[in-house]
Amino acid sequence: MNEMMNQSVTAVSGIGEETAKQLQGLKIYTVNDLIEHFPYRYEDYKVKDLHEVKHEERVTVIGKVQSEPSIRYFGKKKNRLSFRLLVNQILVTVTFFNRAFLKSQITVGTELTITGKWDQHRMTITGSELKKGQEERDQTIVPIYSVSGKLTTKSLRKYIYQALTQYREGIVDLIPDQIRTNYKLPSKKEALSRLHFPPSPESLKHARRRMVYEEFLLFQLKMQAFRKANRERTNGRVLNIQEAEIESFIKKLPFPLTNAQRRVVTEIIKDMESPYRMNRLLQGDVGSGKTIVAAICMYAVIKAGYQAALMVPTEILAEQHVQSLKAIFEPLDITVELLSGSVKGKKRQEKLTALEMGELSLVVGTHALIQEDVRFCNLGLVITDEQHRFGVEQRRVLRDKGENPDVLFMTATPIPRTLAISAFGDMDVSIIDEMPAGRKVIETYWAKPDMLERVLDFIDKELQKGRQAYVICPLIEESEKLDVQNAIDVHMILNQHYKGEWKVGLMHGRLHATEKEAVMDAFSKNETQILVSTTVVEVGVNVPNATVMVIYDAERFGLAQLHQLRGRVGRGQEQSYCILLADPKSEVGKERMKIMTETNDGFVLSERDLELRGPGDFFGAKQSGLPDFKIADVVHDYRALEVARQDAVKLIQSTDFWESQEYETLRNYIEEQGVLNGEKID
Ligand code: ADP
Ligand code: MG
Repeated sequence: MNEMMNQSVTAVSGIGEETAKQLQGLKIYTVNDLIEHFPYRYEDYKVKDLHEVKHEERVTVIGKVQSEPSIRYFGKKKNRLSFRLLVNQILVTVTFFNRAFLKSQITVGTELTITGKWDQHRMTITGSELKKGQEERDQTIVPIYSVSGKLTTKSLRKYIYQALTQYREGIVDLIPDQIRTNYKLPSKKEALSRLHFPPSPESLKHARRRMVYEEFLLFQLKMQAFRKANRERTNGRVLNIQEAEIESFIKKLPFPLTNAQRRVVTEIIKDMESPYRMNRLLQGDVGSGKTIVAAICMYAVIKAGYQAALMVPTEILAEQHVQSLKAIFEPLDITVELLSGSVKGKKRQEKLTALEMGELSLVVGTHALIQEDVRFCNLGLVITDEQHRFGVEQRRVLRDKGENPDVLFMTATPIPRTLAISAFGDMDVSIIDEMPAGRKVIETYWAKPDMLERVLDFIDKELQKGRQAYVICPLIEESEKLDVQNAIDVHMILNQHYKGEWKVGLMHGRLHATEKEAVMDAFSKNETQILVSTTVVEVGVNVPNATVMVIYDAERFGLAQLHQLRGRVGRGQEQSYCILLADPKSEVGKERMKIMTETNDGFVLSERDLELRGPGDFFGAKQSGLPDFKIADVVHDYRALEVARQDAVKLIQSTDFWESQEYETLRNYIEEQGVLNGEKID
C-alpha cells in the first residue's frame, strides 16, 4: 500500500486530533480508511412519480397536506407523527418517528417536499426529511454514512471530500488495466469519487460494480495464491496405490457404487497419489453415501502403508462409524478403534501407544483425536465427517498432526455454490450429486400443533407395518436445561399414549456415553420403536428401518438442520415421511416450512436458506470463513464473485502474473498479505 495513503487522517487538512479520535470510533485511522469508508445507503432527492417507485424504495415526493398531524407518544422520548398528503392525485400517509417538533410546519394546504421510504402496501412514506415548498436539489443522490459520536454524515462528507482532493494522486489502482478495459470498469480514482459524490444513478452503479469486483478479486487472489503456495510448500506424500486392490475391495461391498461415488473416489485417489498435499471438500447430500467413499480412501491409504483417521462431531456418530467400518475392515484383518471422550484411563493409553507405534492403522474419534497427547506414527489421511460442525481451529490442529497428511472434509450441508467458492476457495471440491438407486423421495408435511392427535395415529399406522419413528424436540444449546426437559416431557407423553403397544426410547445430550450407546442400540435393534430425541441424532445416524421423522417446533431450526434431521429417514427401501409440527408467526418462518415440503434437494434448500437468512447465519457467524467485505455482498453480488474467482485462478496460474512488470503492484499486495508462506489465510 502506498505510504501516502497510510498516513494518519490528521494529514488531511481540517482534521485535527479531536476529529481523528472521533474517526477512530468508526475504525478510520488512515487516509485510506477514510476514503474507503463507504456510504451504507443513498438518499434519493430526485422527485419521482409514485407509480414508478417500488416497494421499500427510497423516494422524494412533493404534495399538499390534507390533514392535521396526529401525534402518539410512547414514553418520554418516543413518538410518532403522521398526516395525510396528496401527491399527484394519490393520497398517502406520511409518518415521522420521534420528530414531534415538525408539527408546526405541517398545516392543511401547505406544500411539502418529503423524502423517505415507500411502503407500497400501506401507501405510507416513512419520512427522513421534510422541506417546506418545492425543493428539488441539484445533487439528487446523497450518500448516507454510518456515523457515531459527534460525527455527522455532513461533516464526514466534508472530510472525505477534502481527503479525495488532497490525495487523489496517491490512489493506487490494483486491478490490472487489461481486466479493467475488458469489463469497462472505471478507474479507482473515478470510482471512489463517484461513490462518495454520485453524479447520477448510472455512474454510481458502475462505481459500485468496480469496487465490488476489486474486493472479490483481491480476496480470491489471496485464496488462490495461498492454495498454490500451500501445494508447493508442503510436499505431500506420493501414495503408491494398487488399483487392482481397490477394485477388489469395492467388489466385496454389499452394493455397487453409484457413478458419482466412483467419480469422487477416482478424484480423491488421484489427488492422494500426487506429490501435492490433498486439501479437499467432499460434498454430498444426506444419504448419498459418503461413508463408503471414506472407507475406500482409508483402505487405499492403509494398503499404501500409512495410518488413517476419521474425525466426527459426536460420540453417537463415532460409535456408529466404528461399527459399520468394523463390518467392512475386520474380515480384512484391519483393526478399527474408537478414540473419544468416553475412552479413558488404561484403555485410552493402550490405544495411544498402538497409534504411536504404528500398530493401529485406522482410528475413529471425536475431538478427542486432536488432543495433544495423541501422536501418530505415520498419519497419511485425515477425514472429517460433517465438517461444518467443526471450528476452523479444530480443523487446522488436525491437519497439523503428522507430517502433512492428506485431508478430506466431508459435509452433507450442501454449501451454496456461492459460499463454497468463497469460503472454501482454497480447497478442491468433489461432489456426490446422485443418490443410490431405489431411494424413494421422502414425503414432507407441515402440520399445525393442534393436529398432534392425527400425527400420533399416523405414527401408529407405520409402526403397525413394522417401521420405526423419530420424534425430535428442539434444543438450541446442549446444556440448556429447559430444552432437555422438553424432550423428557414429550417422552413421558408418548410413553403414556402408546402404553402397552410400543416402546419409546429417550436420547439427549445429557446422557452418559454408555447410556447413549444403549439407547441407540435398542433403537437400531427395534427393541424401541420410537426414539424421542434432541438434535444429537442430527448427523449421520443410520437406522434404515425408521420411516417417520416428526419434528416438534420445527420453526426453531434452520433449513439446513431440518434437512439433516429429515435425512435420518428414507434410508431403506420403504416410503418415508417427515412431519414438521410448527406454527411459525413470521412470513419468513412460513416460507421456510413451505420450502421444506417442496424440495428434497439439499442444494436447492441451501440456496433458498441463504437468500432468507444471509451468509453469516448460514454457518454461524464465526465459521463462515468469509471476511467482512466493505462494499460487496456475497449474496447479491454472487455473479461478480464467480467472475472474480475465475480471473484470480487464471492470473495465479499465469507466468505473467509472477514475472511481468504490469502486475507488480498486485503482486506486492499479495505478498504483503502473508499468504505466500502458506501460513495464514484470513
Ligand atoms: P451420508 O452421505 O449421509 O453419510 P451414508 O454414507 O450414511 O450417507 O449412506 C447412507 C446409506 O446408503 C447407508 O445405509 C449406506 O450403506 C447406503 N449406501 C451407500 N452407498 C450406496 C450404494 N452405492 N448403493 C446402495 N446403498 C448405498
Ligand atoms: Mg454420513
